This record gives sequence, C-alpha cells and structure tokens, in this order.
Amino acid sequence: MRLGSHLSVSKGFDKTAEIAHDLGANTFQFFTRNPRGGAARKIDEKEIIAWQAVRKKYDLLHIVGHLPYTVNMAAQTERPYAFAKMVVADDLQRMEAVGIEYLVIHPGSHTGAGVGKGIERIVSCLEEAFLPHLGKTMLLLETMAGQGTEIGSVEEIAEIMERLGFPQNLGVCLDSCHLTGAGYDFKQPTEVDRLINDLQNTIGLERVKAVHLNDSKFAPGTHKDRHARIGEGYLGKEGILNFITHPFIRKLPLILETPVNDYQEYGEEIAMLRAWVEEKEQKRRG
Ligand SMILES: [Zn+2]
Repeated sequence: MRLGSHLSVSKGFDKTAEIAHDLGANTFQFFTRNPRGGAARKIDEKEIIAWQAVRKKYDLLHIVGHLPYTVNMAAQTERPYAFAKMVVADDLQRMEAVGIEYLVIHPGSHTGAGVGKGIERIVSCLEEAFLPHLGKTMLLLETMAGQGTEIGSVEEIAEIMERLGFPQNLGVCLDSCHLTGAGYDFKQPTEVDRLINDLQNTIGLERVKAVHLNDSKFAPGTHKDRHARIGEGYLGKEGILNFITHPFIRKLPLILETPVNDYQEYGEEIAMLRAWVEEKEQKRRG
C-alpha cells in the first residue's frame, strides 16, 4: 500500500524525503508554492540531484504537488484568472524539473456565475496553460464536496475532460472527505462500488491516479469540506477501511491531509492504517 501525508518542502525535497521515510510513508504531498500568497520557491539543480538519490533509496513514488487554494481557474474576473493561468503553466514546468509525478488542482469556484460559465473558464484556462505542456507530470483535477459555488463533482470533472478531448496527461485525484460531502456513504461497502462505477462510466478508471485520505466531520450529502482525523469523523474505522481496501482504491497513492497538531502525528495515523488493513486481512483469511 502506498501511504503518505501532506508535508512541507520548505527545507528542500531531499529533507522532506527523509522525514517521509521516518514517518513510515512511501509517498507524500506538498504545496508547490506558498498556499496563501502564491510565491514560488526557487528549486536549484543541487537540491534536485540530492532529492533524486534519496527518493530512490527510500522507494518514494507517486509524489503529489498541490497547487495553492487561491488558484481559481473558474474565476470570472481578469486578475485571479490570469494568476491561475500563470501558476498552472509555471508549476507544471517546475514539477517536471523535480520529477514529480502528479500536480493536483481544485477545479475552481464560479462565484455565482453558474456551473456552465465556470466550466467554460476552466476549459479555456486548461487549453491555454495546460495543453501546450507535453511533459511527464500529470495534472489531476480534485473531486470536491460542492461547498458554496465549488465545481468538482465526478460529472463536472468528466465534462471538463470531455471538452478538452481527454488529454493524456490529465487525470483525477479523489478525496474521501469531499466525496462524503458530495453524497457517497462509504460506511456502506456498496457505496464504494457505486463510486467506482460512476468513475468508470464517466472519467474512466485509468485516469484516477491519487487519493486524499481524510475522515469527514460531516455526514454524506452535506456538501461540507471539513477534514477530520482518521477514525474520528463520520467515516470512522469501518468507512475508512471499506474505502481503502477496495481493490481499485488500494492500488492508488493514499495521502493524508488530516488536521494533525504536528506532522509527527501523521506517522501515528500511517501506522494505525497499516495495522487496520492487516487486521482486516487476517480476519478474512480466518
Ligand atoms: Zn485539495
């Protein structure tokens, strides 16, 4: 199982790799730039070389860069829209240079203009800032809870991809908390199957590349995006296990973004999750 958490890379990718390994992780996620202001850190050649060596040593794969929350590809006004286009193009290049496999972005919020207009902006933004990029880093659109004017249901993401002609390096990142908010109830194992069917019939399973693994403070269908620590939210141990032991989900990199007090606590969550999965498998074997 590929399991990790969100970590800071402000001291360098090589240092973060050491931290991830110490936490028992074999993948991780990080912000590509300051999540509030949007300023980007310069990543030099020396750091990249050190990072490549240490990630190989520790078998760190399927690394995920996350764009700042302030990036809104569905923005209806010029300044934030221009910023979104600049950041998408720039971070695709920056992540390519570091050898990061996936770059995750929230599709955007239409801020009252309507879903149709929001999707139009997202599609134009991606045509301009993403399609000319022919690298190895895949851009992943994240499934959202539908809070406020947020775009990002499975169907909406499928529409964006279809309008772009399903480009090869465009994929999807799931989020167990957001999907709960959107109406899937993973306390029922059949609801995980329903999600997988919905993905298969719209986006295509081969495009689903990463998972944000979070418990949810709120119940299914509330359209609320409030992460809870693993086992301490609506999903609990049962819901989390139904989700991550599904044969499709368990093959994906699982990234924790839970509200811990200190990143060391991610190590505890990782160990607990591995123990839960082992316990469930032992029961199944009898
Ligand atoms: Zn996200």
